[in-house]
Amino acid sequence: MDLKDLYRDVILDHNKRPRNFGRLDPCDSSADGNNPLCGDRLTVTLRLAGDRIEDIRFEGKGCAISTASASLMTEAVKGLDQDAVRRLHALVHETLTSAVDAPPPEGLGKLAALTGVREFPARVKCASLSWHTLAAALAHHDTASTE
Ligand code: ZN
Repeated sequence: MDLKDLYRDVILDHNKRPRNFGRLDPCDSSADGNNPLCGDRLTVTLRLAGDRIEDIRFEGKGCAISTASASLMTEAVKGLDQDAVRRLHALVHETLTSAVDAPPPEGLGKLAALTGVREFPARVKCASLSWHTLAAALAHHDTASTE
């Protein structure tokens, strides 16, 4: 099985069985994200312990890539402080916007599965929506849009 198949399987699995799906109630912060280009909408709710994401959920409706990306994001950022979240967001942005044949940057872990999305530039916003929405929640803004 080559890497592309592995990446596709991770995306399909996280779309079919999204992790951390739902809403934290009460939560310390939340934001709604909207990608009008594709029609993806999601809500991220967070619980914070100081600077660290103690718990996170997402819910919403979107395409397979937006759902899988949000699911992978919640797994990746749980327990991280805000600096680590920003670093990871930068790596995700880097891999989504790199040349199709460039290797994924180090330190992405399972998020490397998003590397396949760069072959479909119209879908990059689907994959980045959850990260923009998380950033908005951490900044205590209520909404994020990819536009
Ligand atoms: Zn989408």
